[in-house]
Amino acid sequence: MPHLSLYRKFRPDTFDKMVRQEHVVRILKNQIAENAVGHAYLFTGPRGTGKTSVARIFARAVNCLDPKDGSPCGKCAVCRALGEGSLDISEIDAASNNGVGEMRELREKVQYPPVTGRYKVYIIDEVHMLTDAAFNALLKTLEEPPAHVIFILATTEPQKIPATILSRCMRLDFRLIPEEDLVKHLRSILEEIGKPYEEAALSAIARAGAGSDRDMLSIAEACIVYSETLTYDTVCAVLGAADFRETADLVRAMLASDLSASLSVCERILTEGKSVGVLLKDCLEFLSRISIAKTCKNAEQLLSLPREMFDTVRTIADGADGRAILRATEILIKTESELRYVSSPRISLETAIVRIAYPESDSAPDALLLRLKNLEDRLARTAQSPSAPAPLPAPAAPKAAVPAEPEAKYEFPEEEPVFEEAYFSDEPSRADPPVPAKPKAEAQTPFTQPAPAAREAAEEMTAEVAFGKFMRALRKTSKSGVLFTMCSDLLAVFEGGTLALYTESETIYAALRREDHAKVMTEVFAQIGISSFEVRKRGRPATGNGALEELKENFKDYPIEIK
Ligand SMILES: [Zn+2]
Repeated sequence: MPHLSLYRKFRPDTFDKMVRQEHVVRILKNQIAENAVGHAYLFTGPRGTGKTSVARIFARAVNCLDPKDGSPCGKCAVCRALGEGSLDISEIDAASNNGVGEMRELREKVQYPPVTGRYKVYIIDEVHMLTDAAFNALLKTLEEPPAHVIFILATTEPQKIPATILSRCMRLDFRLIPEEDLVKHLRSILEEIGKPYEEAALSAIARAGAGSDRDMLSIAEACIVYSETLTYDTVCAVLGAADFRETADLVRAMLASDLSASLSVCERILTEGKSVGVLLKDCLEFLSRISIAKTCKNAEQLLSLPREMFDTVRTIADGADGRAILRATEILIKTESELRYVSSPRISLETAIVRIAYPESDSAPDALLLRLKNLEDRLARTAQSPSAPAPLPAPAAPKAAVPAEPEAKYEFPEEEPVFEEAYFSDEPSRADPPVPAKPKAEAQTPFTQPAPAAREAAEEMTAEVAFGKFMRALRKTSKSGVLFTMCSDLLAVFEGGTLALYTESETIYAALRREDHAKVMTEVFAQIGISSFEVRKRGRPATGNGALEELKENFKDYPIEIK
C-alpha cells in the first residue's frame, strides 16, 4: 500500500469532519437540501484551509441519492461509483493546465451528460494561474453552462480573477483555522494512529501550521517519524530551533551594536557550513519577525512560533530601537540583492554586519540618527543614575557634564587632517571648541601610562605614527570597509624591528590573519615602508592599578619600568 500523507489519509469525506469553515458548509448544505445548487462557485482563502476538501464533498453530495444532513452517504450506488477515476468529477490543476487549449477542450467535454449521477462537477484548482485567453474560454462556458454542470473554482489569490468571471460565481471565503481547532484536529489524529505525544508538542505544531490544516499536518508528519513519542523538543528540532537560536544571537548582537560578538557569531555560523546567502535570508526573516513583535498587538498570533521562540523574538524586539531594526533590514536587503555580483560574498556579509553593528562607521543620515538616539539614551541613563554628574551641564563648561565615553576609540596621531569622513567622528575633540581638559579614559592603551623610559617612548611614538600612516593609506587603497574597521581597534607597538598589532578579539585576530586580509595589509604596510608586522592576540584591557601588570604580561620581552 502506497504511503499516504496524514493530510490525504485524514482528508474529511463529510461536511461534519471539516475543521471549521462552518459558514461555508452551512450555505452549501442548505443549497443541497433546498435543491438549489448554483452552476459556478469560487472558493477563496489561504492554502490548507479546506477548499478542495469541501469541493470534493460537495461534488459527491449533489449527486448522492440519499444525502445525510447534506453530506454524501457513502453507501448508495452513485456514491460508490464516484470514487477515484470517475468521469463525473474532474479536478484540474490550473497551475499546470493554464492554456487556452485546455479550456477549449473543457468546453467541449462539458456538453456530454454525466455517467452516473445528476451533475458533472469540475474543480479548477489555483484558477488564478490561467492565462487571459484561457479565462476568456472559461468565461464562454460559464456564460451558458449546460444544466448538468457545476464549476468550482478555487484560489488563494482572488484579486487575480477577472471581474467577468467573478460576477458569474458564487464566492465563498475560507478562513484561517484557529490554533485551538488545529490542536483538536491533530490530537484526534494522533489518538487514532496511537502515537504518544506531549501536550506542548501539539500546540507548537499547531502554531507553526499558522492557520493551515495542511501545513500543520505536514509538519506533524515530519515530527512523528523523528521519535517514538512526539515531544516538544522533537518539534523544535524539526522546526530548526538550533538555527533559530544562532540567528537570534547574531541579530541580537548586531542590534545591540556589539561588533565583536556579531562577527564572532557570524564566523561560527559560517564555519558550521551555512552559506552566506542562507544566513542572510535567515537574518532578514528574523528581523521581520522582530518588526512584527515590535509593532503589532497580535504579534503572537501573526508569528505563530513555539512559545520559547516567540519569547526570544519579543525580548530582542523590546530591547531594540525601531530605527535600528529598519536600518539593519535595509542594509541586509541591499547586501542580498548585490550578493550575486560580488566575488567574495563573505566579505560583503561581514561589511554589512560592521555597518549595522557599528553605525559610527557609516555617515548615512539613518546611521547618524541612530547614533544620536544612542547618545540620548546614554544621557538619559546618566541622568537617572544617582552617582552620575549633574544631568544639566553648567553653562560655562557645557561639555564637562558629558561623561567620558567608556569605550572611546583609540585616536590616531594626525600629520594632516585627512579624516574627512565620519569614521571616528564620535570623538568630539577635533571639531568642537576647546573644552576643559579631561583625563582620557584610564589605561586605554599602554601609551597613556606614566612616562616610560625615553627609548621606549620614542619607539612607541614611532609605532603610533606608523600605524596612523598605515590606517590612512589603508583607507585610500582598500575597498573593504570591514578591514579598515577591524584594524581601527588594533594597538600598535614596535617589538624589535617588527610592528606588533594587538587585538583582544578572537574574531578580529582570526579574520586579519586570513589570507585575503593579510595580503592587503602587507601591501599597505609596504607602501609606507614597513616590511615586518604581525597581528597578535592579547587579553582583556587593563584598568586602574592592574594596568601595569597587564602591560608587563602582554609585553614580556619589553623592559617596562615606572619612574
Ligand atoms: Zn450516497
